[in-house]
Amino acid sequence: MSHVINFEKTVKHAKILNPLKNFAEDTLTFEYRTDPLTGRNTTVIKDMLSYVSKFLTSDMELLDSLVEKTRTNCPFCPENVRTKTPMFPKDFLEEGRIFVGDAVVIPNLMGHAERSILVVLSRAHHLKLKDFAYKLIFDGFKGGVTYLKRLTEVEPSTRFPVFAFNYLPPAGSSIFHPHMQVLTRDRPFFLVNLLLEKSRAYYEKNKVSYWKDLLRKEKAGERHLFETEGIEWLVPFAPLRGLNEVQAIVKGKSNLLELNDKEWSGLAEGISKMLRFYHKEGYVSFNVILLSGPMNEHLDYFDVNLRMISRPGIQALSFTDAWALPYLLWDGEAVEEPERLAERIRAFTETNK
Ligand SMILES: [Zn+2]
Repeated sequence: MSHVINFEKTVKHAKILNPLKNFAEDTLTFEYRTDPLTGRNTTVIKDMLSYVSKFLTSDMELLDSLVEKTRTNCPFCPENVRTKTPMFPKDFLEEGRIFVGDAVVIPNLMGHAERSILVVLSRAHHLKLKDFAYKLIFDGFKGGVTYLKRLTEVEPSTRFPVFAFNYLPPAGSSIFHPHMQVLTRDRPFFLVNLLLEKSRAYYEKNKVSYWKDLLRKEKAGERHLFETEGIEWLVPFAPLRGLNEVQAIVKGKSNLLELNDKEWSGLAEGISKMLRFYHKEGYVSFNVILLSGPMNEHLDYFDVNLRMISRPGIQALSFTDAWALPYLLWDGEAVEEPERLAERIRAFTETNK
């Protein structure tokens, strides 16, 4: 009963008389792709990447000046982190904060969930994407997990964690200094809930995990990227947001507390590798989400999985890709064919090991 995953797409065209080509007839192509698990549409638009690329580069002088401006009184810089950031109450954590390598785990001053914490990732106030070293991300993960372990002792009903990176203002971060969020609630976020429900339905119908099936189908395929310590990396067939989006899957582990050090290191290595690719392509800003099933049980039908995307550049124009279609209409749009992106990433990672 495996191999039931269908990669469905429909191609549509529009004809225009193009002023850039002396009003010669031009054909635009729109490819509607259905996410094989959720059914959500993503429209793949060839050549859109080159059309929007001028908004994706950064004004490096502006970026440097913002780095300097935000360094003054930055609460996450090493000289301030012990005096200007919140601490956990003593009954939760005697020492108040968790330190792992350079990572510092602190409660969020203004949270986004009933248990909302931050992991300061580096001593440096600003990092180029190529400088997000494996060790720094790994230590950040370990700090986050140390917190989650304590949380499950104190408050077992708070069982749905998400790790999220928002780096620089185009990615929605109000603080420049490299950090990660860990948001944990008694109820899953919308996307997590959708993936859990659809994965359970798939398992009940097909008697096999969707995630297992997906990897079986993608492993040797044109969207597969690489493997890091058993973690599989690929470009999704129908991306959520579609700007350099990749997905990682932790095989057979349904929640973050089940991951071993090898798997955490595989995730850190893959993120670091992808950030070097983003840097090479001229990006400075990114988001990552790492999704987990409930921490108090193992689910055979769900695998811990990650998504990461690059974001637009830092420019005076303040262009954002969070426009009406993805943000309010909840549809997806990919500015490049996922298979072409996968090819470009592979070409980079195979020569930059
Ligand atoms: Zn700082």
